[in-house]
Amino acid sequence: MRTIGLIGGMSWESTAEYYRILNESVRDRLGGLHSARVIVDSLDFAEVASLQSAGAWTEAGQLLADRAARLEQAGADLVVLATNTMHLVADAIQARLSVPFLHIGDAAADAIEAAGVTVVGLLGTRFTMENPFLVDHLSRRGLRVLLPPAQDRTLVHDVIYDELVQGVVREESRLAYAEVIDRLVAAGAEGVLLGCTEIELLVTPGWTRVPTFPTTRLHAEAAAAAALAP
Ligand code: GLU
Repeated sequence: MRTIGLIGGMSWESTAEYYRILNESVRDRLGGLHSARVIVDSLDFAEVASLQSAGAWTEAGQLLADRAARLEQAGADLVVLATNTMHLVADAIQARLSVPFLHIGDAAADAIEAAGVTVVGLLGTRFTMENPFLVDHLSRRGLRVLLPPAQDRTLVHDVIYDELVQGVVREESRLAYAEVIDRLVAAGAEGVLLGCTEIELLVTPGWTRVPTFPTTRLHAEAAAAAALAP
């Protein structure tokens, strides 16, 4: 089994889910007492969030590339970045690694394709929805991506930072997200990508009338599969 290097803490609420899903996936595949080999490097989210709000992406890229290189030195055979937003600096991270970097957009695109969905709505932080890095990644995989209108993007972003990354899950916010999803479906979305690793704490499977694609689960399952691939 390969060792997974997990760059987490963005936020730890979703990193805890990654850790749980990695271990459950390995146990389900190998049975018995098996669990995942993981090295977790959990950052202080306050530092990362300040770089995000300052638009200091070069510095953020250097920070995460350093952490990734340290994971490789520590024995990681592949590296997973446990957040959608910080994939904005995926190129800087990949440039510092000689082991594979499992991009969250590929885990998402594989599942969306497998479900036969070609038009997908995207929910995530403002950074993820309003910068091209994830939309372009999905478009290169042949998917059409629909974004919520400006007011809905603000709502989705604020719930992530004011509630979900702080472990707060509110019924009112779940209902508000359902309305945002309904509007994406009315605009033509056949499915919705939960493109922020905390959203699946709020929007659970079977709760919407179109399929949802939860990035934490999909990315962690893809990482476990890669760790066990022959
Ligand atoms: N975890 C979130 C994401 O998947 C948002 C927090 C962050 O900015 O890292 O985008």
